Amino acid sequence: MFTRNETKIVRIGDVTIGGGNKIAIQSMTNTKTHDVAATVAQIKALTELGCEIVRVAVADMTDAEAITDIKKEIKIPLVADIHFDYKLAVQAIQSGADKIRLNPGNIGGEENVKTVATLAKERGVPIRIGVNGGSLEKELLKKYGTPTPEAIVESAMGHIEMLKNQNFDDIVISLKSSDVNDTIAAYKLFAEKSDIPLHLGVTEAGGNYAGIVKSAVGIGSMLSQGLGDTIRVSLTGSPLEEIKAAKQILKSLKLIEKGVEIVSCPTCGRCNVNLAAIADEVTDKTAGINSNITIAVMGCAVNGPGEAREADFGVACGKGEGLLFKKGEIIKKVKETEIVSELLKMLDE
Ligand code: SF4
Repeated sequence: MFTRNETKIVRIGDVTIGGGNKIAIQSMTNTKTHDVAATVAQIKALTELGCEIVRVAVADMTDAEAITDIKKEIKIPLVADIHFDYKLAVQAIQSGADKIRLNPGNIGGEENVKTVATLAKERGVPIRIGVNGGSLEKELLKKYGTPTPEAIVESAMGHIEMLKNQNFDDIVISLKSSDVNDTIAAYKLFAEKSDIPLHLGVTEAGGNYAGIVKSAVGIGSMLSQGLGDTIRVSLTGSPLEEIKAAKQILKSLKLIEKGVEIVSCPTCGRCNVNLAAIADEVTDKTAGINSNITIAVMGCAVNGPGEAREADFGVACGKGEGLLFKKGEIIKKVKETEIVSELLKMLDE
């Protein structure tokens, strides 16, 4: 097991990150924030899957004000995502946001930074600075030519300085680029210079398949080097998929114990069932389970029973049928069409 990088502790509502605390899973809603019912419904679905911190876009005052009603209905900390307008940050904090995502360099000058930092400090609300390679300051692009990791880190340091000048240091940082190598290099470089907790992510990672692979490579390799205090897998599409992917990344690196790990074989000529469909259905229907469970879904009697016995639950398939196991014990033989429902029944019990 790798050693986690030492970072400062930051509290976001009742979730504590940094200082070796558990890595928190985040996502962002894609509803209109002022549509309170839709936003709350999505946050509840995210929470059920294992989301621990949720971010909402604050595009205008109605969004900032809606946070009051959203907060009454949800159980996880809420982060208000603000760009350019410091008044939205002020309103979001007054509405009860647990954290603000804002870059002090783009809210119109020192006085505005002071107003936001003073109120955030008073209310114990941390600020995440999110540097994105795609929106670096003109001077830095001129200096470095392209959004290099050095340019991204220099931009971050500039924003941090603005908050520190206001005696504010309850900060989290993200240093995202759509280039995985640059993202990793930027986080590593930053971690050598600062103990501010890291929010890991690869920005604009893409849609499902490409996005999950890109995020798993980027976030996974940083985590395996001990970096990271909270993660967000950014996917084009449903945020629910982000939570499933984040859980799998953390689970693969043994950084969380909760959640289901599916062990399924790649199939070969010995397989006589539609194993891909069975494995997909089991993965999908167990995504919301937060207990630490391994389920083996194996295609035949060669490796199947062995793997299935090692898992908490499992199935080793034969010709149009499956042998169900629980903690190494054969439970029963069922028809192919009943494998998923019978496995789920065993899990329920
Ligand atoms: Fe092939 Fe059986 Fe191994 Fe699956 S478990 S890959 S079906 S030999």
